[in-house]
Amino acid sequence: MEERLEALIEKLGVQKEDADRIREAFVFACAAHKDQKRKDGSPYISHPLAAAEIIAEMGLDIDSAISAILHDTLEDTNTSYEELKKRFGQTVADLVDGVTKLTRVQYTSKEDEQMENLRKMFLAMAKDIRVILIKIADRLHNMRTIEYQNEKKRREKALETMEIYAPLAHRLGMQRIKCELEDLALECLDPIGFKEITDELEELLESNSDFLDHTIELVGKGLSEYNISATIDGRIKHVYSIYRKMYNQDKAMYEIYDLYAVRVIVDDLVDCYNVLGIVHDIYKPMPGRFKDYISTPKPNMYQSLHTTVIGREGVPFEIQIRTHEMHLTAEYGIAAHWKYKQGINKQDEFDKRLEWVRRLLEAQEDTDADEFIRTLKVDLFADEVFVFTPKGDVLNFPAGATPIDFAYAIHSEVGNRMVGAKVNGRIAGYDYQLQNGDIIEILTSKQAHGPSRGWLELAKTSDARNKIRQWFKKEKREENIAQGGQMFETALKKLGVQLSDVLQEEVLPHYLKRMSFGAIEELYAAIGYGGVTALRAANRARDELIRLNKLKGEKELVLQPTAPKRPRRTESGVIVEGIDNCLVKFAKCCSPVPGDNIIGFVTRGYGVSVHRTDCNNVRALEKTNDKRRWINVYWTEETNEKYETSLVLTALDREDLVVDIMTALSTVKVPVSGLSARRFSNGYDAINISIEVKSVEQLSDITKRLKNIRGVEQITRKSYDG
Ligand code: MN
Repeated sequence: MEERLEALIEKLGVQKEDADRIREAFVFACAAHKDQKRKDGSPYISHPLAAAEIIAEMGLDIDSAISAILHDTLEDTNTSYEELKKRFGQTVADLVDGVTKLTRVQYTSKEDEQMENLRKMFLAMAKDIRVILIKIADRLHNMRTIEYQNEKKRREKALETMEIYAPLAHRLGMQRIKCELEDLALECLDPIGFKEITDELEELLESNSDFLDHTIELVGKGLSEYNISATIDGRIKHVYSIYRKMYNQDKAMYEIYDLYAVRVIVDDLVDCYNVLGIVHDIYKPMPGRFKDYISTPKPNMYQSLHTTVIGREGVPFEIQIRTHEMHLTAEYGIAAHWKYKQGINKQDEFDKRLEWVRRLLEAQEDTDADEFIRTLKVDLFADEVFVFTPKGDVLNFPAGATPIDFAYAIHSEVGNRMVGAKVNGRIAGYDYQLQNGDIIEILTSKQAHGPSRGWLELAKTSDARNKIRQWFKKEKREENIAQGGQMFETALKKLGVQLSDVLQEEVLPHYLKRMSFGAIEELYAAIGYGGVTALRAANRARDELIRLNKLKGEKELVLQPTAPKRPRRTESGVIVEGIDNCLVKFAKCCSPVPGDNIIGFVTRGYGVSVHRTDCNNVRALEKTNDKRRWINVYWTEETNEKYETSLVLTALDREDLVVDIMTALSTVKVPVSGLSARRFSNGYDAINISIEVKSVEQLSDITKRLKNIRGVEQITRKSYDG
């Protein structure tokens, strides 16, 4: 064991102090696992040591290697986080803690969609990507020694490996480990199928034993004629990829083109294309099988040229051509990038790289780079949380969600009958914020009183809030009316308006009509269950009073209680009071959308221009212009689908900021008609976006989404030119 330790230290190529830290970790782990044995009878320490060897093989840093040696101490021994922190530092303690949390997550086999959620949760839980790498090393060694486990455990671990770890390794670009994990898992899951393939491969190799050697020699000779120095090696495809092709595509082994693969590794990029030309001179290429992953890398950073050619005796085989650097990335993926870390001193640069990795992980497998940009979700990691139901299903929520959101996500009845919640077996408050990996259980009772109004504040998802409002709307009409009436009166008072003024005979019908309610009780009920905010209702009441008083004062019009019925919709979505079919245009300065309070200005010759009442131009024009040119306008009951409006974002400038904004907008399918950005010397950008929306509600959703983008500090609607 000590010999292996020294070999490990040598492999890591570390300074004396770091070597001592590693030795200390080893001694510490030995003592912690003192009496424990592996299933094969060897001392337990052989496992964490093997995990650390894999980490060294990947080329990771010292802290990762130390954490690998210690990775089971929190889970399986009396060691505490504090102790690790004191002895080995914060980073190591956090890494080990992260690995332990992942170890505690229980999986059972799931539907595909569930698996995807599990993989995402995995990533979300591991705040440091090294945690995942250590976990993968841990799993790789466990799979290498799986034969000592019983049948049931073998199957379980193999399934998990196939569904979680191998796909993760793939996304991280760790080709070599991915293949090994898949083959080890396949051998457990389908030993017969596995053996059939390995037997057949063996036979094939025997009958065609010098195929690869001969090919390598021929290619090597070709390259040396052009003075290109290259490393050439040949291999057989890994078992699981053959298995998948045979079973998924129903092919016999001889029908698989790339059973044999020859790899040519050269010094620089230009040579890659030179080699391709030379190879195509030697062998006949198969049409349609050339792929240039150098100019278009795979989402997991893989770069190479692939071509399939016809070899000796008509045997097709694949040739992969790449540089040494590309090769390192192809084999070790993200881990390979650790090697470059030494050159980067600034932590934020490193974080930037990780940020990119996080996004990369989000990309679907095997999509091209463009597709990757389009499908990427910007805010997954910061803003989502993944939790389990007691049955082991994974649900995801926005960060900050509470048991109330969870209950309503299960079913509205579960929410309405909720009397409490358990998180990981313990009773938790309704305001508890769900954490990744929590197991949530909702306690219900038939005698439950239903949701309380306070829940509306605690619920984070609009789904839960809507269901709660529905409940109040249905179950509590009387209560809603009473409560809504009170809320309305309070809101009016704040605006300096008396309820009795609004209830006047000559005011109320106009007001209700404007609010589209038949009776004041209906309005109260709506306020009570939250369908209309009291503030909005009060504002409208005040506006209506002001309008009516104005009319009275000017004595221009007699109120007409039997005003002609308003059309449900017009071409513009706006009705101009007293004028039918009038030309309407929306002022560019404030670009109102349905839901905004609006006012019209009669232009000379261009119809009525509609502004928001809070538009700066309205205030300016009001002072200078003929008051008679201002006219009341209203949104019709049904408005159009798209109104152009603008948002101004203030954001700290960073790389990819605009890409993130565009992605967020395309995720919610908002058409963008213009975007301009200005950079200021203080490091901030002002970004002006013109979009098409259908209502203020949609606009506020969009604003919320944009606010979540890193760096965005303020979002305002454009309200004047400039
Ligand atoms: Mn372990």
